[in-house]
Amino acid sequence: MTTFSKNVRKYEKLCLQNDVPPQTVMAFLVEISRKERYDLYMHFDDPMPEDLKKTFEDGMERILNQEPMAHVLGYSWFYGYQMIVNPDVLIPREETEELCAKILARIDHIFPDQPEIQCADIGTGSGAIAITVAKEEPRVRMCATDISEDALKTAKLNAENNGADIEMYAGDMLAPLIERGIRLDVLISNPPYIPAEEQMERSVVDFEPHVALFGGQDGLKFYRQIFESCRKVVKEKSFMAFEMGWDQRERMSALVEELLPETKYEIIRDMNGKDRMLFVYFNCSYD
Ligand code: SAM
Ligand code: GLN
Repeated sequence: MTTFSKNVRKYEKLCLQNDVPPQTVMAFLVEISRKERYDLYMHFDDPMPEDLKKTFEDGMERILNQEPMAHVLGYSWFYGYQMIVNPDVLIPREETEELCAKILARIDHIFPDQPEIQCADIGTGSGAIAITVAKEEPRVRMCATDISEDALKTAKLNAENNGADIEMYAGDMLAPLIERGIRLDVLISNPPYIPAEEQMERSVVDFEPHVALFGGQDGLKFYRQIFESCRKVVKEKSFMAFEMGWDQRERMSALVEELLPETKYEIIRDMNGKDRMLFVYFNCSYD
């Protein structure tokens, strides 16, 4: 007979030996048992039911092999919304939740009385950013783009499941917006920003789509592309919000100053103290 306690401890130990954070074990069990953590602890010395035990052990073996927990579950949580994830989309990250919160605060501040706010999420992946901003700010009209048709399929499913109304277009960066003459109050993007040669954890590089990760030799390829053509899609008064790599502050500042000299911009740290978000303001500011 295997109790919850015995099985959890066993896999926590295996996690430590396999370079997987041991907290993953309880996080996984909470999801698959659909129970609260305290409830599990209250029955920790009970035997684990056979069907749960099988799901738990099979899943944990995949996780020990560096597969992301979100892939084993088939979903992850983002800003309280459940997002289907699979190998076609990047698993949405915590830092990106912070980006959404900061975008919402700026929409409130910069457009307090505007009844409708046209936004776009470029490179939407699972749709996490587009869905969150659209759900949290009812004045938003959202469109989302991606070069990957497969990613867009998942984004559409997520939008539908979460009751978000989003236009989705396949295409390269801003091209779908330029073609349709769409003008934005807010342009959002978390483009691929990892430099081509960078060494990464197996759980990311072996399981997540490379089209979602790598941003050319210096990681800045897509920002350059957006900065060069964004004037064709943003309104006179508007802002742009980006996620960026923690070590890109200097090169990013130089790029904004070179390509968008008429704007104000700010680079903001995430909760881990790392430079992570870039906001660029056209004829407005957040202060
Ligand atoms: N927005 C999602 C998020 O924050 O979780 C996914 C971000 S992921 C870092 C970057 C996304 O950009 C991927 O979904 C990828 O398919 C897409 N992408 C890559 N190259 C692109 C391009 N040239 N045009 C449009 N989207 C692109
Ligand atoms: N933050 C992601 C990672 O570290 C990368 C996301 C991106 O390239 N935009 O894996």
